[in-house]
Amino acid sequence: MKKAAPAILKFHGVRGSRPVHTPFNTNYGGNSTCIEIDTGMDYTIIIDGGSGLQHVINNLGEHPQRRRMHILVTHTHWDHVLMFPFLQQLECKNFEIHFHAPDAGGVSFKDIFAKLFKHGRLPIPAPNVQAKLFFHKVTPDAAFLIEGKVKVVGFQVNHQHITLGYRISYEDSIVAVIPDIASISNGNLLGESFAEQAKSTGTEAFEKQYNDNLVKFLKDVPNVVFDTHFNAQNLKADWGHATPEIAMDVCSRARVKRLFMFHHAPEENDQDVATKQMLAQRVAIANDMQVINAREEDEWPLTAA
Ligand SMILES: [Zn+2]
Ligand SMILES: [Zn+2]
Repeated sequence: MKKAAPAILKFHGVRGSRPVHTPFNTNYGGNSTCIEIDTGMDYTIIIDGGSGLQHVINNLGEHPQRRRMHILVTHTHWDHVLMFPFLQQLECKNFEIHFHAPDAGGVSFKDIFAKLFKHGRLPIPAPNVQAKLFFHKVTPDAAFLIEGKVKVVGFQVNHQHITLGYRISYEDSIVAVIPDIASISNGNLLGESFAEQAKSTGTEAFEKQYNDNLVKFLKDVPNVVFDTHFNAQNLKADWGHATPEIAMDVCSRARVKRLFMFHHAPEENDQDVATKQMLAQRVAIANDMQVINAREEDEWPLTAA
């Protein structure tokens, strides 16, 4: 049987914490996180709804056959959800929007989504929802299929509440997106229930198990998108983010071929982001790994690299 063309990884928002716009960050872009996996089919797959989702909304006009959207939500911090109330497709009849998200703190994503529209948060009336909405609960480590073709697995990373990284496979196109993530060493336990689990196994044993499982989750995944919000000089581990060094350490152990650095800090200008890549690439070359800065509206075919 003829193989499908590789899926395309599209970066629509690569900034972390909040959108930013200054004359000094136009090269990499200032929209907050939104990534698309384009399989070329009549549906589209999105990871997170930061302000970069506006690009997806704009581009959908070029694909009138696309009437279904699958949105994988990593977590509900503002930078990852702030565009949802402005998603024009909510008002489109004959349009399906599937949200795939974990519950966090005992609250379902459906409830959090509903609250985005309430209590005077919008200057306009809440959208008149005409689209069919589906809310699918994602359980970490349990694989599921999108449209019967795209395999997705979630992994709880070390970030506040429940935050999931996703590994997505479509035929030979495989990518993992590891959003906001902090190193878990030295008792820096941020994920929901991590402290309780560490209490029963011992912190050192829990941390080793978590780190081994993270590497296993990414093992031989050719393309990985990883949080590099901080650098070694300004790292605040308990804020829940990584550095290029942390990303490279995990990815080299997992034999990743292409590391895309993203969730660039809003304070980083284009020169800072470019320097980050240059320094990282020097180190990564020893591991036969390519390091690439995610840049808004860049597209990468998901070949095996
Ligand atoms: Zn974030
Ligand atoms: Zn976050």
